[in-house]
Amino acid sequence: MTEILTIPCLADNYAFLLHDNGTTALIDAPESAPVLAALKARGWNLDMVLLTHHHWDHVDGLPELLAHTSPKIIGAAPDAHRLPKLDIALNEGDELAVGNLKGRVIDVSGHTIHHIAYAFPGAVFTGDSLMALGCGRVFEGDMPMMYDSLQKLATLPPDTMVYSGHEYTQANGKFAQTIEPENEALQARMADVERMRAAGVATVPSLLALELATNPFLRARDAAAFARIRRAKDNF
Ligand code: ZN
Ligand code: FE
Repeated sequence: MTEILTIPCLADNYAFLLHDNGTTALIDAPESAPVLAALKARGWNLDMVLLTHHHWDHVDGLPELLAHTSPKIIGAAPDAHRLPKLDIALNEGDELAVGNLKGRVIDVSGHTIHHIAYAFPGAVFTGDSLMALGCGRVFEGDMPMMYDSLQKLATLPPDTMVYSGHEYTQANGKFAQTIEPENEALQARMADVERMRAAGVATVPSLLALELATNPFLRARDAAAFARIRRAKDNF
């Protein structure tokens, strides 16, 4: 049986524990204490850490984690020079196994160059590329690159759950409503999001099918339209 835990970290980050057949992988390491607590509560050993990208709020928990656990560190080969020391360096299309689950690396450059996502059957870990009702800021790449990255994720099975790196959904949704004020699926989703946030419930993960119906960055018809929406969000 596969289990995935969503672990709130720092102010608004998420890390995830993916557990299958006795093997446990952490996706991103914003901080150590909540991850160690979750491992202890489940009685799980940390076997691997899958890093999505080099930003501090996704890697800075690692040194403290390594003081208590001995996982293999996995990340993007072309970014090895600025990631924590990698035990396994992967490129786009490479496969990796977590227990019996077979995953695949997707290059989702844009927020950073060599940002990667990890796609497993039914679950994709997207870091700061595709987010719930939004996407990461385009810091290192360019707009067409980020558009292409999101479109790759859009081709995954629509019943895939999207595990993204931040709780930004409510603010993303307020912006999304300015782009598609008539989108009824978006209205309905925002009502759910507001209810969930008022109750302190995480809005991550989200269903890819719902992102395809409501996320303006995924719904942009081409790279130019994406760029317009991304720039508008940067100034929102
Ligand atoms: Zn980031
Ligand atoms: Fe981040």
